[in-house]
Amino acid sequence: MYTLQSVPTPCYVIDEAALVRNLQILQGVEKRTGAKILLAQKCFSNFALYPLIGKYISGTTASGLFEAKLGAEEMQKENHVFSPAFRAEEFEEICSICDHIVFNSFAQKDKWIKTAQKYGVSCGIRINPECSTQQGHAIYDPCAPGSRLGVTLENFREDDLDGVEGLHFHTLCEQNSDDLKTTLAAVEEKFGKYLYGMKWLNFGGGHHITRSDYDLRTLEECILHVRQKYGVEVYLEPGEAVALNAGYLATTVLEVVHNGIDIALLDTSAACHMPDVLEMPYRPPLCGAGEKGEKPYTYRLSSCTCLAGDVIGDYSFDAPLQEGDRLYFQDMAIYSMVKNNTFNGMPLPSIALLKEDGSCRILKRFSYADFKGRLG
Ligand SMILES: *Cc1c(COP(=O)(O)O)cnc(C)c1O
Repeated sequence: MYTLQSVPTPCYVIDEAALVRNLQILQGVEKRTGAKILLAQKCFSNFALYPLIGKYISGTTASGLFEAKLGAEEMQKENHVFSPAFRAEEFEEICSICDHIVFNSFAQKDKWIKTAQKYGVSCGIRINPECSTQQGHAIYDPCAPGSRLGVTLENFREDDLDGVEGLHFHTLCEQNSDDLKTTLAAVEEKFGKYLYGMKWLNFGGGHHITRSDYDLRTLEECILHVRQKYGVEVYLEPGEAVALNAGYLATTVLEVVHNGIDIALLDTSAACHMPDVLEMPYRPPLCGAGEKGEKPYTYRLSSCTCLAGDVIGDYSFDAPLQEGDRLYFQDMAIYSMVKNNTFNGMPLPSIALLKEDGSCRILKRFSYADFKGRLG
């Protein structure tokens, strides 16, 4: 039996107690408001935890057939799916395992709704309220000009809503409920009149509900307002909020090199194992470390890939780093295991589960076969 301090590195370590704390908050929202909360699997798909997650929230949502299958097999609760466009060879299987399907256009809705209805699936349309509430991260803004995501008011066909039982919007990313309130006002102004005849409204994801400064009260007021005014079910489909701060990436220092600065080479990689660090970009928190220059010994933490920019960030420490030292990046359960890759033939980190009693169980190890097998 391992502990966090002894798991072989690199290793993602899912923190079960932290996950449960998040789930209790989400369950509280469900209980107080009657809203249904779904896990957005694209953020976190470690299905070993699905039975636990399913004890607290209402189900899963998927971006296509594979995630939908995973939700159906491993959570077995409500199973929703959204995709900008569905494929003919997959659509009937999707209908057989999903209870809600969200279409991204009236053309998609017209193409598929008869098939979906044959399977008793509840169909909805994703709308684009054209209300940007986030600055800085244009690639995360579905309301940006030219967006392919959701039907704008201009393209909305009010005479083509036969069989449409719900609307869906997803415009937030790591945001608080003040931005939800702003967005909801835009949704109601543009599309509110269509909601009266419908069964549900899905608020999408991007709600940072489990962050310590999140204003739950405003969220709950938004939900109750919609339920009362329009008589519809409300769904939320957070990814991050489910597993926020609920995992580590454990890594080992392999070597230290110097070129004007001190650079520690780790057995992990931003490009391969935490791609959002480069893509978003952001600086992941690291246990026991400070900002650059804050503690006496500053290092640039980097990896063994060939990519010069494969840098996790600059961090400072109380003591010099040495070969064999172990480091623990925080908040590594989300958008990590679902996005990693084997560029440069880098080994994939193992996946472990840290239990409340401090013991760590390895859920999965990867090998050369996982690298080779994906390539031919
Ligand atoms: C990404 C996404 C989510 C989850 O977003 P988080 O930021 O992880 O909460 C939910 N719904 C849709 C449609 C998404 O694209």
